[in-house]
Amino acid sequence: MAFRDVSKEALVGSLTLGFIFIAGYLLGKKKRFQMNFSKSHGKGQSNPLMQYVLRHSMREHPALANLRLRTLEHDRNAMMVSCDQSQFMANLARLIKSKKAIEIGVYTGYNTLSIALALPDDGVVVACDVIEKYADMGKPFWQEAGVEKKIDLRIQPALNTLAELLAAGEAETFDFVFIDADKVNYEAYYEKSLQLIRKGGIIAIDNVLWGGRVLAPAADDPDTLAIDRLNKKLHRDARITLSMLTVGDGLTLAIKL
Ligand code: CA
Repeated sequence: MAFRDVSKEALVGSLTLGFIFIAGYLLGKKKRFQMNFSKSHGKGQSNPLMQYVLRHSMREHPALANLRLRTLEHDRNAMMVSCDQSQFMANLARLIKSKKAIEIGVYTGYNTLSIALALPDDGVVVACDVIEKYADMGKPFWQEAGVEKKIDLRIQPALNTLAELLAAGEAETFDFVFIDADKVNYEAYYEKSLQLIRKGGIIAIDNVLWGGRVLAPAADDPDTLAIDRLNKKLHRDARITLSMLTVGDGLTLAIKL
C-alpha cells in the first residue's frame, strides 16, 4: 500500500519535475547561470569532474547564490549545505509534492531558502535553530526571493519546537524533514520527526559519515558515537525504507512506511 502510494507520487512528481526543468531551461537561455564554488565544495574546486557536474546541473536561484556568497564571508561557513546537495533535496521535496517541511539546523538559512522555494505558495518550512544572529544573515535573502512568509523560524532548542508541533496536533502532517544540527540529539530529532511526517514522507539526515570517523568511533567522541548509533538503528528500523548516499559528508534518506 505504502509502496504503491510512493510510486504514484513519484510518477506524478516526475512529470512535475519535467515541467520545472523545461521551464528552468527556457529561463536559463535568457540568463546564463553564473556559478561560484563554495568553500564547502573543496572537492569541487580540485575535481574537474565535480566542477562539470555543478556547471551542468545547478539552477541556483539568484537569491540563493547571493546568500551563499554572503555565507562564504562568515567564519563558520563549513556548516552551510553544499549547493548541489541542497538542490537535490529541494527536488526530492518537489517530487513528493511537499507542502510542509521542517529544517533542524538552519545556520544562515541557505537550505531553508532552497526548500521554501520548492514549496507551493501555501507551503511552510518550520526552521529550527538556537542562534538567531546566523539566521538573521539569511533573512534579507529570504525576502529577496519573496518566500519569507513560507519560513516559520523558531529560535529555541529544536526538540522543544518538535514537541510543540506534536502538541498542536500536527503529527503525520509534514512531508519533508532535514536533520542537520547537533549530532548527540540526532536520534531524538529522528524519533520526533518520524512522528511528524506522513507515510511516504522523507527524513533526510546529514553528516552520516562524519568525515569517515564512523568507521572507528572513538569512545570519547560523543558526536561520532551518536551518528554511528543512529546509522545502525536506521538500518534495522522496520518503520522506514532507506538509502545512505555518499553525497557530501553522507546523506541518509529515510522514507516512512
Ligand atoms: Ca551538515
